[in-house]
Amino acid sequence: MTRTLTCIECPKGCRLTAETDGTRVLNVTGNRCNLGSKYAAQEVENPLRVLTASVATLGLDLKMLPVKTSGPIPKAKVLEVMPLLRQICMTTPVKIGDVIQADFAGLGVNLVATRSASHSYPARD
Ligand code: SF4
Repeated sequence: MTRTLTCIECPKGCRLTAETDGTRVLNVTGNRCNLGSKYAAQEVENPLRVLTASVATLGLDLKMLPVKTSGPIPKAKVLEVMPLLRQICMTTPVKIGDVIQADFAGLGVNLVATRSASHSYPARD
C-alpha cells in the first residue's frame, strides 16, 4: 500500500509517496533530500505531535491558560492524556515558558505555558 504525505521538515513541502507493508516504510519517493524519507518513516511508523491545549485557571486574568508539550509525543497518546489536562487548575501567576507539569504523563516532556497569566483582582468601587 502507499501513503501520500507532505514533508514538513522545510518550507519546500515535498509531496512524498511512501510504500508501506502496513506498518513499516519500504520505499519513499518525491523527497528532495534524506530528511524526507526520515520524516515519512517517522510519520508512518510512529507519528509524533506537539500537544497544544489549555488548562483551567482560578483567580488569574486568563480563564484558560494555553499550554503545549515541550516536545512531540506519540500521536496515539494525545487523546489518552487529554483527561489529565482537565485535572489541572492554575491558581498562581505563570510566565510564558514556565513548566506547568514536569514529565507530563510520564512521556519525558514537560507541559509548558505558552502565555503569561497574572492574578486578577476584583475591581474596586
Ligand atoms: S524532502 Fe527535504 S527538501 Fe523536501 S520538504 Fe522535506 S526536508 Fe525539504
